[in-house]
Amino acid sequence: MKILDLVTRTFRYTNHTVRDSEGHTHPGPPHDATQSVLEIVTDEGVSGYCFGASPDVIAQVVKPLVVGRDPLDREKIWHHLVEMQRGNRGLSDRVLATVDLALWDLAGRALGQPVYKLLGAARDKVLAYASTMCGDELPGGLDSPEAYAAYALACKARGYQAFKIHTRMPPIAGTPNPREDIAICTAVREAVGPDMALMLDSFHYYTREDALRIGRALEKLDYEWFEEPMPEHSMSSYIWLTDQLDIPIVGPETAEGKMYTRAEWIMHRASDISRAGVFDNGGITPVMKIAHLCESFRVQVEIHSPGAGNLHALCAMAWPGKYYERGLLHPFIDYERPPQWLRTIDDPMDDEGYVHVSSRPGLGQDIDWDYIAAHEVKR
Ligand code: MG
Repeated sequence: MKILDLVTRTFRYTNHTVRDSEGHTHPGPPHDATQSVLEIVTDEGVSGYCFGASPDVIAQVVKPLVVGRDPLDREKIWHHLVEMQRGNRGLSDRVLATVDLALWDLAGRALGQPVYKLLGAARDKVLAYASTMCGDELPGGLDSPEAYAAYALACKARGYQAFKIHTRMPPIAGTPNPREDIAICTAVREAVGPDMALMLDSFHYYTREDALRIGRALEKLDYEWFEEPMPEHSMSSYIWLTDQLDIPIVGPETAEGKMYTRAEWIMHRASDISRAGVFDNGGITPVMKIAHLCESFRVQVEIHSPGAGNLHALCAMAWPGKYYERGLLHPFIDYERPPQWLRTIDDPMDDEGYVHVSSRPGLGQDIDWDYIAAHEVKR
């Protein structure tokens, strides 16, 4: 089998979220937006797909490197793209991820198997945590400790066994505020009772002292983990924090460097639980390397962000990866409604809080090609 072409299609959809000046997503007035899908075309009539493509980088940088290759040579293609990242700043880990996910999707479609089976299946469902959007100033949204508590109760009623808070952060006036963070975490624990697992992902630029103060409060509230309270390039700060706290510290998430960074954090005991994600690290291929690295050290690894790629990777891990991150959630957003380009969502959840992986070939996404064709934007 040979790769004949890389094609990206861009199409219009209605977005119900907006980004604030710091890049955080919130509910907002419906507005026009665009999405892109990558298709890797082969000479045997089978293709692989991934959403979130960057059309220009794919066309200018990736396409000349991969056309003519065997699409099942994922490892070779991935390593070549990693080496090309040094001289091509636009060739981000996110771009690598779209190519790698499309190649996995293609392999699954060619062989008639879901990706998690090709990887070596360990399970077909994963416990989810409800992952909130960052807080806001929207009445009835996530604007106060009481509002977070009410939403945690709603998520518990939906079946979630775990709930992760993203607190109120800049540009909201008066934030970041460790005291408010602790008040939110306290209100949520008091509302849901002792049995629901709770996690905090706070403001990412706290001082060491503020991070320690919040972490100690979380220990008293029996939180399951504490995530990214400081810049991850300061590994010394994480060694300092992890050494003093009993609550597990999770990371690195946003630090680049793929499996190499995770190995360094494990060796330096900079966190207790490692972190990986297909769009953070460059695809399913590196996430499985990180999963096996962590398993070898008996260090747990938690997977960042939702999506079919992360779900298939999680279902090929017998080692924790305890949770699937379902989100970002907000009282004003209907997460159960698929995006307009899919007929069904990637991550259906049952009443016990488990997300089930698709048994369709490839990544199993239920793509609405009629919608995409009707809304395509000619470039
Ligand atoms: Mg995070």
